[in-house]
Amino acid sequence: MTNGNIGVTTENIFPVIKKFLYSDHEIFIREIVSNAVDATQKLKTLASKGELKGEAGDLTVNVSINKEAGTLTVSDRGIGMTEEEIDKYINQIAFSGANDFLDKYKEDANAIIGHFGLGFYSSFMVSKKVEIITKSWQEGAKAVKWSCDGSPSFTIEEVDKADRGTDIVMYIDDDCKDFLEEYKIGELLRKYCRFLPVPVKFGMRKDWVDDPDNKDEKGNPKRKEIEVDNIINDTTPLWTKKPADLKDEDYKEFYRKLYPMSDEPLFWIHLNVDYPFNLTGILYFPKVKSQFDLQKNKIQLYCNQVFVTDSVEGIVPEFLTLLHGVIDSPDIPLNVSRSYLQSDQNVKKISTYITKKVSDRLASIFKQDRKQFEEKWDDIKIFIDYGMLSDESFYDKAKSFALLKDTEGKHYTYEEYQTLIKDNQTDKDGNLIYLYAQNRDEQYTYIEAAHAKGYSVLIMDGQLDPAMLGMLEQKMEKTRFTRVDGDVIDKLIVKSDEKKEELPEEEKKSLTETFKNALPTIEKTEFMVDAQPLGEGAAPVIITQSEYMRRMKEMGRLQPGMAFYGEMPTMMNLVLNTDHPLIKQSIKDAKPEVVSQLIDLALLGNGLLRGEALTKFIKRSVDLI
Ligand code: ADP
Repeated sequence: MTNGNIGVTTENIFPVIKKFLYSDHEIFIREIVSNAVDATQKLKTLASKGELKGEAGDLTVNVSINKEAGTLTVSDRGIGMTEEEIDKYINQIAFSGANDFLDKYKEDANAIIGHFGLGFYSSFMVSKKVEIITKSWQEGAKAVKWSCDGSPSFTIEEVDKADRGTDIVMYIDDDCKDFLEEYKIGELLRKYCRFLPVPVKFGMRKDWVDDPDNKDEKGNPKRKEIEVDNIINDTTPLWTKKPADLKDEDYKEFYRKLYPMSDEPLFWIHLNVDYPFNLTGILYFPKVKSQFDLQKNKIQLYCNQVFVTDSVEGIVPEFLTLLHGVIDSPDIPLNVSRSYLQSDQNVKKISTYITKKVSDRLASIFKQDRKQFEEKWDDIKIFIDYGMLSDESFYDKAKSFALLKDTEGKHYTYEEYQTLIKDNQTDKDGNLIYLYAQNRDEQYTYIEAAHAKGYSVLIMDGQLDPAMLGMLEQKMEKTRFTRVDGDVIDKLIVKSDEKKEELPEEEKKSLTETFKNALPTIEKTEFMVDAQPLGEGAAPVIITQSEYMRRMKEMGRLQPGMAFYGEMPTMMNLVLNTDHPLIKQSIKDAKPEVVSQLIDLALLGNGLLRGEALTKFIKRSVDLI
């Protein structure tokens, strides 16, 4: 037996490992199992080159728990290590400048492990003692056992071991007993090892098969229960396969595996590049039932089929973090801090590539199957809008397939819509006026009035629509968006300066005063009363809210720091139509019950008549009947 000290410059790395890596203890399993997988892959390579004498045999990696001994063991039949190799790869660990680095990254176990090449040593996060029992693939190699109890000293001795390969035996710490529980290890293997490229066995499981020796009266074999190896991984996950060999159903099935609780995805994109970086993966556009369903970080990030994280921020563009799926790339420097990641050139290229692939795919679906694209538009709109708002390059691509929808449910591209409204909705200053409604029912009368004028009205009821129209106004020249109830219909799109005959100032003042005084008080709402000739066919009293005021309020609600606007009373316009017979009558002789009735009807039409005012209105209406 040999004794020695692990080649570190600090006194003892183990307390450090334990102290600083408190958050992500569980990743030791990923490190140890993927080391076993690596060693197995290396062996396969040797075998394929004909360098291996004898059979490679069963290469399954084995994970087992021995509760009595308090051990968790990971065994492989890979290349193993000689004593010299243990010395080189395990005993000598570069550990200079450790304390500074640890201080800086104490929250980030990935960074620490990567920085120090601490993969194997992460086992000490959960173990009081670790043994490596290993036999190299090389002919005549002697099996050795390395053992270390968490002090800087270790022992190494020759042992008997029949098989080539390595057992890592972890004597689990008393305060980590969880890692001796089957459910716990099962859960961690599913999380980190689910798609490893070499079969990983964790005990046995029950299965039902046909029993040829035992048939029922019809001669069909009965089913019998058998024990089979519990292989926890799928060694060739879908993203590693060629897109040309896959059917839609394969993608859907894989999605169900990843997200069993989710609805069928809308679209998917198979990523596959090997130059100038290596990346594969599948991204899915999920079907979200509501905005509350929108979740970031549902994309899983893998490195050569080893699960690393489900936090992809900084790697994919912000708006794509809403997608689902997997990305696998050995070229994403995962063992670094997030802030470093964002400045990494490779990562920037990857992010650009993904954005381009997503927009190309959407463009091609739009081109090849516009009907399908339109059917799914309501569901994908949020992703596309978010992308256009947050990513200039995505906007440039998406503007050719992003859609607008009118109140009749018809879809248009930006360009198509522009052409549609150009003739009838350009105002006297040459601005193109886009009319929109946020709620088809609430703004029904205004939409009808606009249609009667031959105007088209868009429906803009999406969560991001207020921001979208603001952006479109900036991007498109001489373009303004106005909600249909932003003004009386004649003023929504002002086409000439000609003035209609207005009431003499005195009469107007007395009329508006009368109505103002009759208005019920509505909490946090103020009215400006005005009188204008709006034509005999129009309603006697019309309520509008200026586009500007409404947007201010909306922004106040959405943006912190602008709450001030949200707190302001809502300013509404109450416009009296001086062409209407009832208003004409009121100019001469205003009857209080008529004035109140007219006001209440207008309020009612806008969903503003509530409480006491509503009760009064009903009573008055009954009296009038
Ligand atoms: P890394 O895997 O990042 O190189 P580790 O600390 O995990 O760092 O492992 C150090 C080295 O020890 C590996 O590169 C490999 O050469 C060797 N090693 C670890 N586990 C095994 C194993 N199961 N079989 C053979 N060699 C191993």
